[in-house]
Amino acid sequence: MKKQQQLNIPNEHLELFRTIGKVADSLGQPVYVVGGYVRDYYLGRLDADAIADIDFVTVGSGIKLARKVAKQLGTTNLSVFKRFGTAQIKHDDLDLEFVGARKESYRQDSRKPTVDDGTLEDDQLRRDLTINALSWSLNEDSFGVLHDPFHGIKDLQDKRIRTPIDPEKTFEDDPLRMMRAVRFATQLKFEIDGETFKAIQKMAHRLSIISKERITEELNKIVLSPTPSDGFALLLKTGLLKEFFPEMVNLQGVDVRNGQKHKDNFWHTLEVLDNVAKVSDDLWLRWAAIMHDIAKPPTKRFSKSAGWTFHGHDALGAKWTPKIFRRLGLPLDDRMKYVKKLVRLHLRPIALVSDEVSDSAVRRLIYEAGDDIDDLMKLCRADITSKNEWRVKKYRRNFDRVEEKIESVEEKDKMRNWKNPISGEEIMEVFGVKPGPLVGKVKDEIKEAILEGDIPNTYEAAYDYLMKLKEKYSTN
Ligand code: ATP
Ligand code: MG
Repeated sequence: MKKQQQLNIPNEHLELFRTIGKVADSLGQPVYVVGGYVRDYYLGRLDADAIADIDFVTVGSGIKLARKVAKQLGTTNLSVFKRFGTAQIKHDDLDLEFVGARKESYRQDSRKPTVDDGTLEDDQLRRDLTINALSWSLNEDSFGVLHDPFHGIKDLQDKRIRTPIDPEKTFEDDPLRMMRAVRFATQLKFEIDGETFKAIQKMAHRLSIISKERITEELNKIVLSPTPSDGFALLLKTGLLKEFFPEMVNLQGVDVRNGQKHKDNFWHTLEVLDNVAKVSDDLWLRWAAIMHDIAKPPTKRFSKSAGWTFHGHDALGAKWTPKIFRRLGLPLDDRMKYVKKLVRLHLRPIALVSDEVSDSAVRRLIYEAGDDIDDLMKLCRADITSKNEWRVKKYRRNFDRVEEKIESVEEKDKMRNWKNPISGEEIMEVFGVKPGPLVGKVKDEIKEAILEGDIPNTYEAAYDYLMKLKEKYSTN
């Protein structure tokens, strides 16, 4: 019998683990806490407030154990998934996941496993990575004893991502694990072990049987990592990226003509993404960085006078955004529209740099960007990736000036989230007409007059202008 081990974890977790151990003892079932919780403990990043789910594995029925644990905890918040042999208890902001140890293997053509009961070791060897296969016993006589059959602790120390068994078998059983390997390497700044890496390169095409939602869940965790470029570099080198995001792979490459070359837009995009990641945790601003130059390849031209140009890549990239979001299973709501807008507008602040820029150009940008103007400026600043320090400084100063202009125009004209001071109803009343195209036309003319600066952004001025329009439209 193994001696108990001290676990240096929050008291509420310790109590919970002891309770679960005792319930399992009463059923005569071994029980273990496994996976992320144990890994994060040894990584020293067990943050009690951030833990959302804890995984338990038992030899025997996970459902039976979960039912009894729920009773003991005095909760009815239990969900049972008979088909998968799993159960979940929601308890104090925690999702406690219970599963019976399994031996399983997947058929070639689908993710549907054939499942048999197994031992703890059987269960550990079908996990994705050695660092995720660590477990502690929770039964009273062996409480806290570590089971580490695949040297996960050593891999944590050596910062290595490796599968417990032959990587090709691990990835064959569930190809999503290749994405998880990259995700953990990125989040933890670990290195993917050679054999595992080679297996991913070989098996990358198998990702095609995985749903876009599962892929994107891992992808978004990569995007939200401290240095997301690490993850995208791995996705490119392993061949995974082209399986679900070929447009991004196409950004790669440098052309030279007449001794002039353009930058490699794949690595440029990653630099922009990292720059954004330094100033914002917002997933969608990060996605805007990923997408901002996505349409450069088809808009690339060379001319002797202008060198390399990518005219219209902003508009085309915006047009591609819904299509790419749909394919990746990303949301198609306001979050997509926000990304689309930033992609469309990402060159506009640069056009405002020159001294002769009119207030009306600034006003138009504020009108179009609305509340997202600050994020747009963050993206533009992140987009400065020159190696030349002097240039970077110059560009940054230019954007300082643009921001000053935006601020002063904004203060004067209050164009952010602008609403036409004249409503459609008012136009119909003044013109004595029913709803129709004329109403929209008049409204548009008032908007244009304000954006152009022909009239101030006030109700009075807009009303006077409306009277003039009435005259104009009644005489012809
Ligand atoms: P985090 O929750 O911090 O992202 P985690 O390791 O808890 O990390 P989960 O997705 O919650 O990740 O999975 C819990 C555990 O289940 C993992 O630690 C791993 O042991 C196992 N696991 C999850 N997904 C797979 C998979 N596709 N193949 C094999 N094992 C998996
Ligand atoms: Mg987890």
